[in-house]
Amino acid sequence: MRIGILALQGNYAQHKIVLDKLSISNELIIYPEQMSDLSGLIIPGGESSVMSKHIENNDFRNKIIEFSDDRPIFGTCAGMILLSSSKKTNNVDPLNIMDFSIDRNAWGRQIDSFSTKINIDSEIASSFEGYFIRSPKVKYTGVDINVLATYDKEPIMLTDGKHLVSSFHPEIGGDDSIHKFFINNLHG
Ligand code: GLN
Repeated sequence: MRIGILALQGNYAQHKIVLDKLSISNELIIYPEQMSDLSGLIIPGGESSVMSKHIENNDFRNKIIEFSDDRPIFGTCAGMILLSSSKKTNNVDPLNIMDFSIDRNAWGRQIDSFSTKINIDSEIASSFEGYFIRSPKVKYTGVDINVLATYDKEPIMLTDGKHLVSSFHPEIGGDDSIHKFFINNLHG
């Protein structure tokens, strides 16, 4: 098994540190041709508008959409925005891979960043500290979407049984439970 980490922009290096710690073979992805041998992909947090531009300009769009048909993707924060079916804006053209929509930056600006204990599915962890940095809020979820974590009654981690998204940053804070869940449960 080899997991790719999309390394066009954002916090990809921290995801690599977590996978290295778990001894999971992984690769930073900067060209679409690198994706053929992967069994899963992580799209990190960062700035979704910048990542969206790089995805369009480097021919990643169709490659990632095709990849998502039979292999799992884990999107964190900006990565969550990109996996959503939110409407295209001037800055971000989501990939429509999962049936949910978001409001960007709805947990506040950079200066409002916070970390907090979240409510998480007990199969994943008994407790988890979530780091929120200009995170999106979930506006709508389709019938196939399961909510795996909440904070302040808001859904913050979702799955459709194949893909996983979180509005917070599970790669920060040293707890690798969510990465383990992605690797063990969603990898087919
Ligand atoms: N607010 C950013 C965006 O809309 C996401 C922030 C993050 O990934 N930490 O792209």
